[in-house]
Amino acid sequence: MTRAVESTIHFLCPGCGATALVRETPGSYGCAACGLDYVALARDKERFDAALVANMRTGLDGVLMALALHQLAGGLPPAQSAEHVRALAERSGIDIPEYQRPTNIFQTVLCLLVPSLGIKKRTSRRS
Ligand SMILES: [Zn+2]
Repeated sequence: MTRAVESTIHFLCPGCGATALVRETPGSYGCAACGLDYVALARDKERFDAALVANMRTGLDGVLMALALHQLAGGLPPAQSAEHVRALAERSGIDIPEYQRPTNIFQTVLCLLVPSLGIKKRTSRRS
């Protein structure tokens, strides 16, 4: 059961309007469809937050993807990142089911991230 998936995160891209895979390149995360740089987008807090809200409005999956991408591209510690996205959802009137509250979401996001972190560790080891 080994599937070579670079990223399991897909995101409704504010650049091209497609829900596309997030492509990971060294030090950056971008839209696989149009190449929009999510790390650069994250520096524009207002636009990044708007993109996160648009994703969260697509449903629970969108909430998880917003959490995952914010954690990858937002540059905040994981718990702080989850808290930011949760507060953003609350302000936007998006309901996060009780069982998906930050602690559980954090575990889910970890499950999404651990495989890619494993790959990163291996490829960053230079001889
Ligand atoms: Zn795009």
